[in-house]
This record gives sequence, structure tokens and C-alpha cells, in this order.
Amino acid sequence: MKVNVIGAGIIGAALAWRLTKAGADVTLIDPHPPGGVASAASFGWINAAHGNPRNYFDLRMASMTAWHRLKKQDATVPFHPDGTLYMHYDTDHDRHFAEHSAWGYDLRWMERDEIAKAEPNLANPPERCLYAPYEGQLHVDAAARYFAEQLIAAGGVVVRQHVQNLDTGAADHTVLAAGTASVDLARTIGVSVPLTSPPGLLVYSKPIKSRIIFHTLLSEGLHIQQRPDGRLVAGADFGGGSINDDVQAGAAEIFTRMARSLPNAALEYDTYSLGLRPTPIDGLPIIGQPRDAPGLYVAVMHSGATLAPVVAELAAQEIMTGHRDTLLEPFGPDRF
Ligand SMILES: Cc1cc2nc3c(=O)[nH]c(=O)nc-3n(C[C@H](O)[C@H](O)[C@H](O)COP(=O)(O)OP(=O)(O)OC[C@H]3O[C@@H](n4cnc5c(N)ncnc54)[C@H](O)[C@@H]3O)c2cc1C
Repeated sequence: MKVNVIGAGIIGAALAWRLTKAGADVTLIDPHPPGGVASAASFGWINAAHGNPRNYFDLRMASMTAWHRLKKQDATVPFHPDGTLYMHYDTDHDRHFAEHSAWGYDLRWMERDEIAKAEPNLANPPERCLYAPYEGQLHVDAAARYFAEQLIAAGGVVVRQHVQNLDTGAADHTVLAAGTASVDLARTIGVSVPLTSPPGLLVYSKPIKSRIIFHTLLSEGLHIQQRPDGRLVAGADFGGGSINDDVQAGAAEIFTRMARSLPNAALEYDTYSLGLRPTPIDGLPIIGQPRDAPGLYVAVMHSGATLAPVVAELAAQEIMTGHRDTLLEPFGPDRF
């Protein structure tokens, strides 16, 4: 079976690899080397955090399990299961704790002395926070490159090409995984992919040799991780808030917040990135074959860092066998 996959970000690369493993003759197409656009500007927090309906939680949870499994199989997978501290305590966290614990999610309360031990460089540890040990961080563009290398090792092909118009007749299946560019590409064959693309600003410090923080840290208006190369990366919101409007001022503000929360680290500003989040209008992933476009399979979503391995596995299964897993049911492209 011949499959063309358009887009070598985290979604296209992971799915192309899975399809190759399942025996398809796969060509992964992108004008740039694998690594993606949104993927290269992503925070990469792997989570099934609060505020999501149960069926979306289940999909995210299955994908977190898949990341842990991949990491066990190959330690070079750039996923780091360091856990998250939810530092900004409010009553929402009580609800999150009750609901997600009942769903089997591993959440624990930490008191101030434990927090200070877990994160000794933090300026003002809160009285209490939630600890999610199963969460982690992904180096997202590195993960896309990892999957592309695995794809090539398994016999797949990567082609550097900008696709102008979708041609679903060129292969048995065409996977559209071009992130925000999927909207215009789908339109070339009359298919609608209803996305918004809110901006997301991240700020990077210069690398620091020692470990400054040990988890993903979330507080109101600030989330921080330390990357394996020693840089600290911070953002202020997960949905395109006003801090993204004036990029220079927003970056300076985020850096100031990060530096204040870690005064011992003597952080030096390095750079910022501004990415567009490929976000379907209802916030949920779009995964599946549109009714009116035979041969096309759409895989476009936010939280693609979290979702890539399970989407790759289940979409590859659907493309190869026609069987659609119940986990994917709510996320079809014809729901709009
Ligand atoms: C600031 C920010 C923070 C985020 N934080 C998180 C987070 O903490 N956790 C999380 O799970 N998710 C997060 N996300 C979302 C996540 O990064 C994305 O959902 C994911 O990267 C999308 O991957 P993708 O492969 O679909 O798209 P992309 O990475 O954008 O890849 C699409 C690819 O398609 C290619 N392409 C485009 N047009 C064409 C064409 N005409 N022909 C051929 N190829 C084409 C592009 O070159 C690109 O390589 C964040 C995103 C941003 C921007």
C-alpha cells in the first residue's frame, strides 16, 4: 500500500514511521528537513492536565503511556518523564485532584518543605502544590527527527518538496499532517479543516551547566522547564493570551518572571520563539478520513507533542486495516 504523508513535524513523522513499520510504502514530504514548524516552537509539556472531557483525557493518557513505553524501549527518545509541579494552588486544583484521581491519574499533594527539597532554587515555594509524576517534557523537533530516522531505517523515504495542491490520486492514501498549513492545502480539494492558530511565545535563557529545576513548573502566568542542553525555557499561557501581542515586551516580561522565580540561577537571556498553535476550533484533535475526500486522512491538532505516539499508532492502524479505534471516535473530521 502506498501512502504519502505531507508534513514532517511531530505528527507526520511519527505517523509515517508507524505506517512504515506496519508494512506500507511511505513517502514523507516536506520542503524542510524533519522537525516541523509548530513542533520546533513547542513547549513540549507531555500531560493529560485538567479541563478536558473524559474521552480527550483518555486519548492523552494513552499517548503518555506510549511515550513512557517508547522511552523504555529506547533511552535516546527525547522524552524526559520528570513530572510536573502545579504551583499555583487554587480550588480548581482540588477539583482537578478529585476528578483525575478518580480517573486513575497519578496526582499527589506536596507541602512546602517537600517542594523546597524538590526544587531548592525556587524563590518562594508555595504552601502546597500538586505533583504529577507521570508527566514530562519532550524535545519536540528532536522527536520528529528521531521518528524520521526510524522511518528511513525501516525503508521509508523522506522527500524535500513543497506540496502546492493535494493530489489524493498519487497514492492509495494521502495523510495531511501539515499543521497550520493544512487549512489551505485541504481547501485545494474542497475540504475544510477548521483551525485557529493562536500565537505562543517562549523565552530561552543561555545554557546553564548545572541543573536548576527538576520538573516542569507551572504557576499563574509562568511555566518553566530546563532542557537537556541546560537552557531554561518559559512561557506565560497555553492559549494565545495578550502577552504574545507585543513580542519584544512579552519576551522581556516572561524572562523577568522566570528570573525572579529562580534568583539563585543568575539567568542570562538568550532568545525567544513565536510559534502558531494548530488548534481546531473546538480545541480537540482532527483525526480521520473526511467523508467527501476518498483517500485523504487528516491528522491536525494542538497538543501534538503529547498526542503524537498514540495518534500515529491508531491512525496507522485505521489506514492499514480500516479499523477505527474507539479512542479516536470523538475526533473525526466530519464532526464540524
Ligand atoms: C508555543 C507552543 C507551545 C506548545 N506547547 C505544547 C505543549 O506543551 N504540549 C503539547 O502537547 N503541545 C504543545 N504545542 C502544540 C504542539 O507543538 C503541536 O500540536 C505540534 O507540534 C503540531 O505538530 P504538527 O506535526 O502537526 O505540525 P508542525 O510541527 O507545524 O509540522 C507541519 C509540517 O508541515 C510542513 N508543511 C507545511 N506546508 C507544507 C506543504 N505545502 N507541503 C509539504 N509540507 C508542508 C511544514 O514544513 C512542517 O514541517 C505547542 C505549540 C506551540 C506553538
